[in-house]
Amino acid sequence: MTLQNELRHLDTWIFDLDNTLYRADVNFFSQIDRKMTAFIQRYLNVSKADASTLRETYWAEYGTTLSGLMAVHDMDPAEFLDDVHDVDLSDLKPDPRLRDLIKSLPGRKLIFTNGSRGHAENIGTHLNLFDLFDGSFGIEDTGYIPKPKRAAFERFNQSFDINPKTSVFFEDGVLNLEVPRHMGMTTVWVTSGSHIGVPSQTRPKAGTLSTPDWVDYVTQDLTDWLSENTQF
Ligand SMILES: [Mg+2]
Repeated sequence: MTLQNELRHLDTWIFDLDNTLYRADVNFFSQIDRKMTAFIQRYLNVSKADASTLRETYWAEYGTTLSGLMAVHDMDPAEFLDDVHDVDLSDLKPDPRLRDLIKSLPGRKLIFTNGSRGHAENIGTHLNLFDLFDGSFGIEDTGYIPKPKRAAFERFNQSFDINPKTSVFFEDGVLNLEVPRHMGMTTVWVTSGSHIGVPSQTRPKAGTLSTPDWVDYVTQDLTDWLSENTQF
């Protein structure tokens, strides 16, 4: 294992889960989006179109759809999380190269997701990666406060005794990297070649999105980035 000079100080490797540990263009997460829309439709007894709009609005305003439903409708999160994370995994394929690269990273490896703890274990296990991680943190662990809110990162840092200056955060949601960067972490924006990590309300026309100044590295492919920067 050799690290690029600028990465040699790192001893903690933090990964978002969805659309980060697998490529966004696998289009797996759209299943969860559809399940969230269907749940809102049933829960609030609204049309599919209204439910879809609400899902995006809550995501943009509250960080996650779940947080919006809890804040505005006082919804119990458990039923929602069980429902929307009950998904077909057949499109998600383990990547042996990614496994080898993560396994070789020096120091702690952690997952921090806005999904549930069970979702992290389910998807992580299916991807044949979960056993490589020293810990995972789900939305229950933050008291249902989602990234990008500062309090979510504070709880995460406290739970794992994180030193931001020796930590790196990998995320597809570019807005979720701003707080970690200001805390002193190195940030890697994993785009999978799409702008899917930016809420559509704030998404510029394709191709016009510039990289925000809180992003240290941007890559279309996590496996390639790790290969280029940690083994050469
Ligand atoms: Mg994600």
